[in-house]
Amino acid sequence: MKELKEKIINEGSVLSDTVLKVDSFLNHQLDPELMKLAGEEIAARFKDTGITKILTIESSGIAPAFMAGLTLGVPVIFARKRKSLTLNNHLYVAEVTSFTKKETNEICVSKDFIHADDKLLVIDDFLANGQAVLGLMDIIDQAGASSVGVGIVIEKGFQDGGRMLREKGIRVESLAILKSLENGTVSFLEEELV
Ligand code: 5GP
Repeated sequence: MKELKEKIINEGSVLSDTVLKVDSFLNHQLDPELMKLAGEEIAARFKDTGITKILTIESSGIAPAFMAGLTLGVPVIFARKRKSLTLNNHLYVAEVTSFTKKETNEICVSKDFIHADDKLLVIDDFLANGQAVLGLMDIIDQAGASSVGVGIVIEKGFQDGGRMLREKGIRVESLAILKSLENGTVSFLEEELV
């Protein structure tokens, strides 16, 4: 997505060979117009797949997921990371190892919101090693529901998540795929479909 790539070039900062900081439009301050375009683009790629709900993870997945949900006219659920929720047993719970924080957390979704007849679109801000997406897929499996695929704002194509998920037969659509962050420079894959 052209607008997203321009924003990454103009405002992103490369923190290391593997981490891109995009706090000015996605991870701290939000750019509503860009989030709207991102949500609409993800929605367009998955239209006609019978989506009943969107599933994301707090907090940075919420903005693009919300805009996609508005476009598709379906509810948006965000998995929560709060530990206090685990005291309640009316929950689906999965473990996720965070790429940026290097710690393992439980994520959870109330059983009230995902049912066996739901078809879910998973959305997240970044795809690195795919642990967050796998955790969300685990929750969908626990509910006996199905997934139509995964919509990602920024995929780091040089990390394993995208390949691992596609090898499992999961449809992954990313709005920007980074080829490399080496030497402090962002480069994109020419072909968006891997
Ligand atoms: P994964 O679970 O695919 O290994 O990592 C994805 C999650 O880690 C995303 O939800 C995102 O919050 C975070 N993340 C991974 N890589 C980056 C990065 O380069 N920059 C930022 N800002 N977040 C990242």
